[in-house]
Amino acid sequence: MRYECIKAKTLLSKREMLAEDWFHINRSLNAYRGCEHGCVYCDGMSEYYHVDNFTSHIRIKENAPEILRKELKRLGFSSQQELETETLWSFLPKDDATRLAMKNPRRIVIGVCGGVSDGYQPAEKEHRITRQILETLLDFRLPAMILTKSDLVLRDIDLLKELNDVAFANVVFTITLHDDDKRKIIEPRAASTPDRFAALKELRKAGIFGGVMATPIVPWIGTTYENMEGLATEAKGAGAEFILFGAMTLKPGRQKEHFLSVIRKHFPGEFDKIKALYANDNKYGNPMWKRQPINTMLLGHEICKKVGIRDRSVRHTLPFENEVNYRVLGILLDIVFYQRYMLGKPLDMSKPFHDLSIKLEKGVENLKVLLDERRLKEGLSINDEMVSIVRQIIETGTCQYMENLLSNLSEYEIGNQAMVISDEESGDWKKEKV
Ligand code: SF4
Repeated sequence: MRYECIKAKTLLSKREMLAEDWFHINRSLNAYRGCEHGCVYCDGMSEYYHVDNFTSHIRIKENAPEILRKELKRLGFSSQQELETETLWSFLPKDDATRLAMKNPRRIVIGVCGGVSDGYQPAEKEHRITRQILETLLDFRLPAMILTKSDLVLRDIDLLKELNDVAFANVVFTITLHDDDKRKIIEPRAASTPDRFAALKELRKAGIFGGVMATPIVPWIGTTYENMEGLATEAKGAGAEFILFGAMTLKPGRQKEHFLSVIRKHFPGEFDKIKALYANDNKYGNPMWKRQPINTMLLGHEICKKVGIRDRSVRHTLPFENEVNYRVLGILLDIVFYQRYMLGKPLDMSKPFHDLSIKLEKGVENLKVLLDERRLKEGLSINDEMVSIVRQIIETGTCQYMENLLSNLSEYEIGNQAMVISDEESGDWKKEKV
């Protein structure tokens, strides 16, 4: 393994992400380039990211905390340190957190690593870059979401608790294989499956938000009912707020070549099927969707319902956010998610929900006040149907539209001896006993 300390020029992603992002973050950063965990399906290996020797040459962005501090200031945020030395704001309420919230521009939730590197990979033990990033966010009172496959995150539990108290901290573990022998082949240098669940349990006990990203589920090897139900049951036992199942993408080039060479060696019986599934060489790595062994999300939805755990991440209300507005936003995002990703409905159908979600995410007047003053329609520039949906959510916590969607999804429920699989001839989804 080769380690190299480098100086980063920039850190935060440039573009603000959309409201329907699966983890409800609007910026992200990576403290490392490359990842020692060496998951055989890792997207980071692809030529698309221009990182050679992704799993064996780890570049450590040693100045990442410093760059982050500069970039946050450029975005208009102030740190606690600055607040303490300022007199200009002394007329504001004394509570520091309130003063910061009043002064700072719209809050951002930062995805700390987990995009194309793991912030808690082995190099973090010595270099502590992710820890310093969390310290910086704590100083700015800004929320963080961490996606990891390592129990090293427990080292920072003190910091995460503090951050959670003043802003918000959410730790999501990627866990894709219940059987740890298979995990050793597919995610060779990541923490074991039991260790990841144990770490999640400890964080949840400490009051930190968290769930499980069961993505990517490797076709045939991970798409068994046994694997997915096992993961959902463990997630529930660990106190996860949700488990999100998703399919695997495989970009043509070195990512696909490496993945297939491992499958050929360790799972020869699955090799031909998997190779054929990605024979389309889609540039984003999408498989031939209707040739997948199962519809991972739909089966995931059914299993989650049976186990009693949420099947998608939660849009939490952050400190200083309006409770009612963000409860409505949460339901709108669920509608978009179920329509787009689970039922595969055309984009047009979810557009009004998506557009309103973006508005609410950016901040609008208190919806309860708008409702009471009969100003929802003009205040949000929405049609009568959307007014009715928003009103129902404010008054009851859900809406008929959402209930109908859920009953559409229940049509796919088939019991634990069957799968939603693709029909070889027509390519359509069908239910079949297994
Ligand atoms: S932990 Fe994530 S970034 Fe690291 S090798 Fe695995 S998939 Fe890639």
